[in-house]
Amino acid sequence: MKPVIVLGDEAVALAAIHAGLTAAYSYPGTPASEVMEYLQAQPEAGKSYLASWSVNEKTAYEEALGTSFAGKRAMVSMKHVGLNVAADPFMNSALTKIGGGLVLVSADDPSMHSSQNEQDSRFYAEFARIFCFEPSDHREAYDMTRLAFDLSEQYEIPVMIRLVTRLSHSRSVVQPSGLRPQNPLKLGPGRDWTLLPANARRRFKRLLDIQPELLKESESSAFNSLKLNPGQRSLGVIASGIAYNYVRESFPDPAQGPSVLKVSTYPLPESLIRQLVSEVDTILVAEDGYPLIESRLKGMFGIPAKKVVGRLTGALPASGELSPDVLRPALGLAALPSFTAGPIPLANRPPQLCAGCPHVDTFIALKRALDEFGRGTENVFSDIGCYTLGALPPYEAVQSCVCMGASIGMAKGGSEAGVYPAVAVIGDSTFAHSGLTPLLSAAAANTDMTVVILDNGTTAMTGGQPSFGTGDRLLRMVEGLGVPKAHIRVIEPLPKNLEKNVQVFKEEMGYKGLSVVVPVRECLEESKKKKRS
Ligand code: SF4
Repeated sequence: MKPVIVLGDEAVALAAIHAGLTAAYSYPGTPASEVMEYLQAQPEAGKSYLASWSVNEKTAYEEALGTSFAGKRAMVSMKHVGLNVAADPFMNSALTKIGGGLVLVSADDPSMHSSQNEQDSRFYAEFARIFCFEPSDHREAYDMTRLAFDLSEQYEIPVMIRLVTRLSHSRSVVQPSGLRPQNPLKLGPGRDWTLLPANARRRFKRLLDIQPELLKESESSAFNSLKLNPGQRSLGVIASGIAYNYVRESFPDPAQGPSVLKVSTYPLPESLIRQLVSEVDTILVAEDGYPLIESRLKGMFGIPAKKVVGRLTGALPASGELSPDVLRPALGLAALPSFTAGPIPLANRPPQLCAGCPHVDTFIALKRALDEFGRGTENVFSDIGCYTLGALPPYEAVQSCVCMGASIGMAKGGSEAGVYPAVAVIGDSTFAHSGLTPLLSAAAANTDMTVVILDNGTTAMTGGQPSFGTGDRLLRMVEGLGVPKAHIRVIEPLPKNLEKNVQVFKEEMGYKGLSVVVPVRECLEESKKKKRS
């Protein structure tokens, strides 16, 4: 096979295809979306394997689990916060007897380029007691993913590939290896999947029993390496994932640098760590994410008389992405010469809604209606999507953005605490992802609040993936959840309809019970795309 130049996400997707993938599932989210986009763009998609967006990450994980149950290889990919949504099936799947290899790709976003936090998925892998790979480059992303399927089948557990933004979204050369055929259909013994307490206890014991084997696997992995430099005993570095590249970049001549342990697999390769620790006085831990290794070094390994430094001690910043520049002072290196361009007369360009975005017309009408109640946007609980940008000037139309679907539950809680009128704003895709259950709860209580479901027909913020909760289906879902039909109102957010729309908002906010307003207008970017195609 010829070498290819691919994104980190694409290297993982390509490896899955070559490893005999039968089905892949995902929910869009930066920096993981490109895994599914690549799978879907290949000519074999839909023929030799299935590559499908799911309604949310939990559903995606469960779909992949079903494929694995059938003996076939499955991949599920998501951004780090998506794993919070999928945490229930993920944690429990560590106890089930994985049939076809199940690989979970969790792409973390240190520095929060496009996320509401920078949590580190390696903790989830440790929490579930499964095996985890952390590639340092694209080639490893490919090789590790292939191996992850094998290990998943060998140990009957899901295996995680942990990526970070810098790797997911950069390009490099990958040398693919051969194509493996798909697994035959083979259903697993149901009792190993039926987590009734007696079975779950047995399966959990089994998971604990294989921990020494997983440790052995990690310690013997060719992806970890220890390069001792006997001439440099004062400092040793443990570098995981992409941080390993930053250390290499800092010392073009390794003979001039410290001893370096590259860590790419979890559970942590303890004996390699102990070997490094015995050779040096101070250990600097460089990891792109939370200080997982650093904290384990201080606790689990109980290293006396050795200094461990990293994010916890302030040797490295406590948050944000690592980079070669960030790392240099901790390695005792001077900053590299840099060039300051000086003041450039460019206007600041903060993120904002596209000019002509339909959300703008909704926000203008909503604000006018709230005004009539003598209230401002402090009454509006919002969610995650393009419309979150409505929190910024010049609109300042919404507040709160916590997690997918939170707007409706928060508005219900706010209403029950006395907020009036209580308003939730959520997009159609986010509503399908996590808004149905809180709306069901509000319908059962007939909570006095107005839910605004912005139906632009797509998952706009992540690039226009399909929405599961748009059009008639959305209206039927809302009605089916118990919202009175008379208080499900559809509006068209256009400047010419402003007065009509303000009136609808006013009527529904004034109604003493649960109402839903659905502004329907296609995302401008999507309609432009359609015109171009
Ligand atoms: S992508 Fe679509 S929904 Fe998002 S801001 Fe632009 S027009 Fe609005």
